[in-house]
Amino acid sequence: FALCLFREKKRRKIEALSEKMAVDEGHVACGGDWDGRWNHLKKFLERSGPFTLPDFEPGTETLQFLLETCKILVIGAGGLGCELLKNLALSGFRNIHVVDMDTIDISNLNRQFLFRSKDVGRPKAEVAAEFVNSRVPGCNVTPYPYFRVELRLTLTFEYFIARRWMNGMLISLLNYENGVVDQSTIIPLIDGGTEGFKGNARVILPGMTACIDCTLELYPPQINFPMCTIASMPRLPEHCIEFARILQWPKEEPFGDGVSLDGDNPEHIQWVFMKAQERASEFNITGVTYRLTQGVVKRVIPAVASTNAVIAAACATEAFKIATSAYVTLNNYLVFSDVDGLYTYTFEAERKENCSACSQVPQDLQFSSSAKLQDVLQYLTESTSLQMKSPAITTTLQGKNKTLYLQVINIKRSLVFSFSLSPSVLVSLTGAELGLADGQELAVADVTTPQTVLFKLNFTS
Ligand SMILES: [Zn+2]
Repeated sequence: FALCLFREKKRRKIEALSEKMAVDEGHVACGGDWDGRWNHLKKFLERSGPFTLPDFEPGTETLQFLLETCKILVIGAGGLGCELLKNLALSGFRNIHVVDMDTIDISNLNRQFLFRSKDVGRPKAEVAAEFVNSRVPGCNVTPYPYFRVELRLTLTFEYFIARRWMNGMLISLLNYENGVVDQSTIIPLIDGGTEGFKGNARVILPGMTACIDCTLELYPPQINFPMCTIASMPRLPEHCIEFARILQWPKEEPFGDGVSLDGDNPEHIQWVFMKAQERASEFNITGVTYRLTQGVVKRVIPAVASTNAVIAAACATEAFKIATSAYVTLNNYLVFSDVDGLYTYTFEAERKENCSACSQVPQDLQFSSSAKLQDVLQYLTESTSLQMKSPAITTTLQGKNKTLYLQVINIKRSLVFSFSLSPSVLVSLTGAELGLADGQELAVADVTTPQTVLFKLNFTS
C-alpha cells in the first residue's frame, strides 16, 4: 500500500510539475522572467544577514549583474561539467561559455545527464549547451567544441595539464604596479575534481592566493607500473593488460603496420583483453576482464555521480559568492570523501614563495658544472614542484638565440634546431661544453604553461 500511495503521490507531483512547466513555457515568449522566478536568489541578495560581507549592499543591482553582465567559462562538459552547467543556469548565471572537445560516448549516459542515447557521437559542449538553453528560459550557453591550438594540444594530453595551462593563462593576464597586483585584473578560478568517492574544490584568486602550481606537490606524477614487473614478474591483472598493451601490441601489430592502439575501438580492446587473459593464465593471475582492460588502456578514473554532484554544488556556490561579492568565499581548499562514511575538511593552501607560475621570482637551477643537459631535462620533468611534460629549452649564446632542446611529442622524436648535433649527443653534453656560463638564463617552454618560464642556471662547486 505504501508503495501505491507513493506512486500516486509521485504521479500527482509529476502532473503538478508539468503544469508548472507549461506555465514556464508560456513565459518564454514574454522574455523569461516571470514573477517570483528569482525569489530564491533575492533572499541572498536583497537583504543582509549574519554571513554577508560587511561592505555588501543589499539591493536589486547584484541580481541584475548576475543575469545580464556576469560571464563565466566552464571547462569540461563531462560528469562535473553537466552538474555545474545545470547549477549555474539555475543560480542565475546566463552568460555561460563551455569548452569541451570530447564527443558523447554511451558509457557517459549514466551520469552526464544532459545527454541522451540519440546524442551519442555528438560534441559534448554542443549538446550540453542546447539542453540547458532549451530547459532554462533566458539562459545562453555558448558551446566551444574546439579551442585554440595550444589548448587543444594540452587538453588532448590529460586534464591536469589543462588545469595548469588555464592557471598560467589567468596569471599571465595580471597587471602589476610596483610589485603589487592590480586587483581589477584578477579573474578568479574555481577548480573542482573528483576521483571515485573522493573530490576537492578550491578557489584561486591568481596573484593573491595559492595557484595550481603552488600546490603541485599535492598531485604526485602518475605512477606507472615498473617495466620489469610487467615484463617478467606480473602479480596483478593490470600487469598482464599492460604487458599486452606496451609490449605485445607494437611487436605483433595485429591491425596492420603502424596502427596504434585505440582505446575507443572495441576490436582493439578485445585483442588486448585476449592477450592479457593468456598472460594471466600463464601466471595464475585472476581478474582480467574486458571492462578492466578498457579501464587500464584508456586510463579511466572511476566516476561516481554523487561525488560529482557534491563537488559541482560546492563549485557553483563559490561561483555565486564570488560573482555577487555578497558572501565570504571558501578559503580556499575543500576536501570531500565518502569512501568510509562522510568526511569534509577545508584548509588554506598557502602560496609558494618561489612558485614557477605566480611568484614573479626568477627560478634557480642548481647544477654542478659537470652536469649534463639530460640532468637538467630530468629535473624539469621529474621534480614534483615542476612536473613538466616536454620542456623546450632556449638560451642566448654569443648574442644569438639558441634552442638547446626541443622535443616533438607527436613524432616521438626529438629535434634540435640550433646545433648540428643529434639530440642524443646533445643531452650528454655538459653546460661547459654547450657554452653555458654560471648565471646563464634559460627560457623553458612547456605544455603545462602558456608562458615561458625563466630559469637561472647556477653552477655549484
Ligand atoms: Zn603559484
